[in-house]
Amino acid sequence: MDGLPGGSTSVTRVIKAGWLDKNPPQGSYIYQKRWVRLDADYLRYFDSNKDAYSKRFVAVACISRVAATGDQKFEVITHNRTFSFRAESDVERKEWMQALQQAVAEQRARARLSGTYPLGARGLEQPDHAGSLELRGFKNKLYVAVVGDKVQLYKNLEEYHLGIGITFIDMSVGNVKEADRRSFDLTTPYHIFSFSADSEPEKEQWLEAMQGAIAEALSTSEVAERIWAAAPNRSCADCGAAQPDWASINLCVVMCKRCAGEHRGLGAGVSKVRSLKMDRKVWTETLIQLFLHLGNGAGNRFWAANVPPSEALQPSSSPGARRRHLEAKYREGKYRRYHPLFGNQEELDKALCAAVTTTDLAETQALLGCGAAVSCFSGDPEAPTPLALAEQAGQTLQMEFLRNNQGTGVPRPDSTLPLEKHYSVVLPTVSHSGFLYKTASVAKPLQDRRAREEFSRRWCVLSDGVLSYYETERTVTPNGEIRASEIVCLAVPPPDTHGFEHTFEVYTEGERLYLFGLESAELAHEWVTCIAKAFVPPLAEDLLARDFERLGRLPYKAGLSLQRAQEGWFCLAASELHAVFPEGPCEEPLQLRKLQELSVQGDNENQVLVLVERRRTLYIQGERRLDFVGWLAAIQKAAASLGDTLSEQQLGDSDIPVIVYRCVDYITQYGLTSEGIYRKCGQTSKTQRLLESLRQDARSVRLKEGEQHVDDVSSALKRFLRDLPDGLFTRAQRLAWLEASETEEEEEKVSRYRELLLRLPPVNRATVKALISHLYCVQCFSDTNQMNTHNLAIVFGPTLFQTDGQDYKAGRVVEDLINHYVLVFNVDKEELRKQREEVTAIVKMRVAGTASGTQHAGDFICTVYLEEKKAETEQHVKIPASMTAEELTLEILDRRNVGVREKDYWTCFEVNEREEAERPLHYSEKVLPILHGLGMDSHLVVKKHQSMEAMLLYLASRVGDTKHGMMKFREDRSLLGLGLPSGGFHDRYFILNSSCLRLYKEVRSQRPWSGAPETSHRPEKEWPVKSLKVYLGVKKKLRPPTCWGFTVVHETERHEKQQWYLCCDTQMELREWFAAFLFVQHDGLVWPSERSRASRAVPEVRLGSVALIPLRGSENEMRRSVAAFTADPLSLLRNV
Ligand SMILES: [Zn+2]
Repeated sequence: MDGLPGGSTSVTRVIKAGWLDKNPPQGSYIYQKRWVRLDADYLRYFDSNKDAYSKRFVAVACISRVAATGDQKFEVITHNRTFSFRAESDVERKEWMQALQQAVAEQRARARLSGTYPLGARGLEQPDHAGSLELRGFKNKLYVAVVGDKVQLYKNLEEYHLGIGITFIDMSVGNVKEADRRSFDLTTPYHIFSFSADSEPEKEQWLEAMQGAIAEALSTSEVAERIWAAAPNRSCADCGAAQPDWASINLCVVMCKRCAGEHRGLGAGVSKVRSLKMDRKVWTETLIQLFLHLGNGAGNRFWAANVPPSEALQPSSSPGARRRHLEAKYREGKYRRYHPLFGNQEELDKALCAAVTTTDLAETQALLGCGAAVSCFSGDPEAPTPLALAEQAGQTLQMEFLRNNQGTGVPRPDSTLPLEKHYSVVLPTVSHSGFLYKTASVAKPLQDRRAREEFSRRWCVLSDGVLSYYETERTVTPNGEIRASEIVCLAVPPPDTHGFEHTFEVYTEGERLYLFGLESAELAHEWVTCIAKAFVPPLAEDLLARDFERLGRLPYKAGLSLQRAQEGWFCLAASELHAVFPEGPCEEPLQLRKLQELSVQGDNENQVLVLVERRRTLYIQGERRLDFVGWLAAIQKAAASLGDTLSEQQLGDSDIPVIVYRCVDYITQYGLTSEGIYRKCGQTSKTQRLLESLRQDARSVRLKEGEQHVDDVSSALKRFLRDLPDGLFTRAQRLAWLEASETEEEEEKVSRYRELLLRLPPVNRATVKALISHLYCVQCFSDTNQMNTHNLAIVFGPTLFQTDGQDYKAGRVVEDLINHYVLVFNVDKEELRKQREEVTAIVKMRVAGTASGTQHAGDFICTVYLEEKKAETEQHVKIPASMTAEELTLEILDRRNVGVREKDYWTCFEVNEREEAERPLHYSEKVLPILHGLGMDSHLVVKKHQSMEAMLLYLASRVGDTKHGMMKFREDRSLLGLGLPSGGFHDRYFILNSSCLRLYKEVRSQRPWSGAPETSHRPEKEWPVKSLKVYLGVKKKLRPPTCWGFTVVHETERHEKQQWYLCCDTQMELREWFAAFLFVQHDGLVWPSERSRASRAVPEVRLGSVALIPLRGSENEMRRSVAAFTADPLSLLRNV
C-alpha cells in the first residue's frame, strides 16, 4: 500500500504500516480507525490507506518514549504530547512498539554518531522558508515550512517546534501556480492546496521557495541514495544534520546545505563543493565508490579526531560558529589526527608514493592532509607522480582521490590568506572565483549605459565548465549559472561604457546577454581570460593570445564549403578579424579596414554579413540574433575610418584609401574628357555632403553618374587631400620635396624624388603613386579636357603641399612627378600599356555611348557568381578592359580559395535567364564588351564545364574538321518583328566547316562510301560561323522536341539580331556539335594550355583514380594519346 506518492522513497523506507485505532486527543473515548505508517523519520496517520496526505505526523526524533498501556493499547510520548493507539491484538501491538522503539534508537544512534546531537533536541532540517499562511479549508492560519524537497504543514509555530505536524507534501509531484493577488495554489495529482499569503511580496517569496523545493525534488536522488548507503554519510560530516545532500569531492565528505555554504566560503583550493543531487555529471561510479570507502567515517576519523565538545557543531549552530569550526577543521587542520611523518616533507612524499599503490585510501588521505605533495616527484621517470604510480598499480580509487586533490592546498595553521600553490599543476579545467558585479540578463543588445546601481554584487565561481553566481560567498544554491558550453560570445566594451569602469558581456546560445562589471582592470582581465579559456576549444586557443574585444563562435561559409554553414571561432582585435575554422589551416586575419566590401545581405530574419577581401569572401550568418547584432556593430566599427589622417582611412587593395580610389575611379570613367577637370570647382554644398559621406564610410558610397557631377567629385578629392592633418607629403618631409624640385640636373632630381618617396609612410607612398598615375592619365586627354601637366600642377601643387600657391615649387614637384611618372615610380612598361588600353577602352565606350547604366559607375564592378546565382555566391569584380574570361575565372576561384584540379574545367558562363540558355565563354574572350552587352536578365557565373572533357575527347579523336548531320530547326520569327506564329521544329541537314554553318532543306541522296549524304547544291541558309554566338539550351516555351538543344544568335552588320534554335537527338550529338562550333570559332584552341593554370593547381591525392587518358597538351598530343589508347589501352597506364 505504499505506492502512494507521499509515501516512500527507498531512503524513507516504510518500516511498518497498518490499521490502528486512535483515540482523539480531547480525551474522548471514541476510537477512530486510522491508517498508520512509520518510516525512519516520521510516524504518520491517515484517514485511509488511499490517502496521500496524513492527518498528523510526528517526527521520530521527537519521540521520547513508547509505552504499553492496557487493552492492546500503546502510547507514543513526545515532549509534551502523547498519542494513544490500540492494536487489533497483543502481537500486533508488540510489533508496533518494537518498530517504533527501534526507529527511535536508530535515530538517536545516528545523532550520536555525528557527536552533535543533544538528547531531546530535534534533528530536523532548518527550513528554507517558513511562516504563516492561510489554507483554504482551515479556519486558522497554518504554519508552513519549506524544507528541502518538502512542504510541511503545522497547526502553529508551537507544533512546528515540537515536530508534530499535519502533513507534508513531497514536491516531486507538486506544482505551484499564482492565483489572484495574495493567493497561490500548490497542486498535486491528489489535492489542490490553496494558500493565501499576507502580502503579494510574501506570496512571491513563497512561490520562489516552493519552486526551489520542486527543483530539489526533481533532481535525481539516485546519487544521494547510493552515497547514503554508508551509514556515516547519512548525516552531515560537520554538524550532523540528517540527509546531507552536498559533498566536498576532494575532502571526500558529505555535508548539509548550511555547512556546504561555509565550505564554499573556504574556496575551491580547500574544498570543492558539489551537490549530490544537482551536479549529476560529477558523480562517476569511481567517485561514488570513493565516497563509500572514505566518506564521513574516514573523513572525520582524520579531520575531526580531536574536536573539543565546546567547539562541536550542531545542526542548529549559527553561521558564525559554523564558519569558525570549518575554518579550524579544514583550513587550519586544527582537529586532525597528525601523521607520524608530519613536518618531514620528503618522508611524507615518499610515504604518499608508497600509499597510492595500495588500497589504503585512509593513509593517502592522512598523508595529503598532513602536507604530502600530491604532485611530488616519485623518482621514477616512468611514473613520475603519485598519480602515475597509482595508475601503474591499477588503483583507480587512489587515482580519483589524487585527481580531486590536485590544486588544493595543505592546511596551515593561522592562515587566513588564500593558499599559494607549492607546485605548478595543470588544472584539468579552468577555475576562478571572486566577486563580480552583475546586471540582470537581457535578451536585447545593451543600448544605453548601465548605471552602477543596476549592478548587484555576486560571488561568482567558474568551475568545471560552469560559471555560477551566488548571493554571497557562503550561499550554497546559485542564483543562476552559465554553462561554458552555452557561451557563444564574450565581449569587452571599452572602459567606462557603463557605471563600472571595466565590464564584459557574456552571450549565450539561448540568446541571453549577461553584463558583468568590476573596478579593477586586472581583475576584469583575469575573469575575461578565464571565461575565454573555459569556452574556447583547444583548436581555437591561439585566439586567446589576442587582446580581443570580442571572441566567440559563429556560423560561417567560406571557400569551398558554401553549401553548408559551419561553426568557426572568431576574434576581433583592433581592426583585424582572426578566424579559426574547424577544417583547413589557420588563416591570415582579415584586415577589416582593407575590405573590398562589407555588407549585410538577406532579410531581417536571415541576415548574412559579407566580408570581401582581395582573395577571399567570408559569409557570417546571423543565426542567433543577439550576438550577431553585436558582432555586426563591432565589425562595422572596426572597418570604419578611425580619424582624418591618411593611414586611419579605410584602405583598399594596395594601401590606397578607399576614399581616394573611389574618386579617382569615378573621374577616370566619367571625367577624363570633361573640360577643365580638377580646375573647375563643384558646388560647395554638394561637395561637402559628398566628402562627409565618404569620410564616414567610403566603402559603402557608390558614386553614380547623374547623381554626382564630376566636378563635385574632383572637388571632394581635392578638399580631402588639402585637409589631411599631416598632408600627403607629411609635414616632416614637405620641405625636402620642395627643395628637391630645385635640383638642376634632371637625373639627379628623379633619384632624389625616388629617395624621398621611399621615406614616406606606406599609405602615403601608395596614395602618391595612385594619384600621380591618375593625373598622368588625365593629361593624356588634355586635347579634350584642356588639362595638361602644367595646368594640373597649378591645381594640385598647393593642394598636396597645402601652400597658398604663391610659390610655384609645389607645382613643380607635381609637374615633375607626372612627367617622370614612369621613372620615379618604377612603372613597368606592361603595366603602363595595360593602363592606357583600359583608359582608352573606357573613353571609347563613353564616346560610343555604350556604357550601360546597369553597373555601378565609378568602379567598373560587375557581379559574378560562383557555381550558381544566389546572394551568397556573389562576387564583385573590377573588370579591366583587358580582362579575359580565363582571368576572370581564375580571379573568382582565387578569391574563393578554390583549388583548380585536373579535369575541373572551370569556365565563365554567360547565363541568359529569359532565353533559358547559357554560353560558356571562350577562355580568351574579353569580358568587358560582354558585360556591356548583357541584358538585365543575364548574368555571369563561374562553374565547372561538365561537358568539356567529353568535347576535348571528341575533338581529339575526330577525323577532319567539318561536322554534318541532321538537327531539328526552328527560327524565331517574332524577333524579326513580324509577329507571325513561328511554327514548330523541322528536320534540317547542317554542315559546319571552317567558315560557315549551312542549312539544307532536304537530302537528295546518300553516297554509301562517304557516309555523307549529298545535299542539294544550294543551302537554304548560310551563316558566317565566327559571328555566331552559340548558347546551350532552348527555352521551354518553344517546346523543343528534345532537351539537347542550343540557341544560336547571329548579329547582322546592321545590328539586327537573329535567333535560331537547334535540337539534337542525344546529348552526345549536342556535345559534338558544340565542340565543333568552338573548334571552328577559335581556330582549334578550345581549352587553354596547361601552363597558365599549372601554378594555381592544387596537388591532388589520386588514389585509385588514375586518369586513363591524360588530357593535357596540344590537340595533336591528345590525338596521339587517343590513338595510342585505342591501340593498346594498357600502354598508357604503364606510363602513369
Ligand atoms: Zn552540517
